[in-house]
Amino acid sequence: MSDQLPACPECHEEYTYESGALLVCPMCGHEWSPEVAVETEATPAVAVIRDAVGNVLTDGDTVTVVRDLKVKGAGGVIKVGTKVTDIRLLEDAVDGHDIDARVPGFGNMQLKSSVVKKAT
Ligand SMILES: [Zn+2]
Repeated sequence: MSDQLPACPECHEEYTYESGALLVCPMCGHEWSPEVAVETEATPAVAVIRDAVGNVLTDGDTVTVVRDLKVKGAGGVIKVGTKVTDIRLLEDAVDGHDIDARVPGFGNMQLKSSVVKKAT
């Protein structure tokens, strides 16, 4: 199945066939170049992690917490506006917690990117 042709990007039917250098969908007549798809696949699959407002986060960024966060077990609350420096992005997010960071007063913990905003 390794040479299975991709589904039509227009109508998503899977009756794609090759016609010369192009791929053709007989269902909607869409023709496209398979090289586009290959290039996309060749790009390293870096998971883009965005903050609460859509900024792309990168390792080492400083972020601020955008809402109070109850900390399980610690009995405390990370206050909105808390600045967290030098974050590390986690590739294998557990339960949506995709940032590893040292939070002042709480130590190392995982945060969700949806509750932080990149500091500018
Ligand atoms: Zn199609």
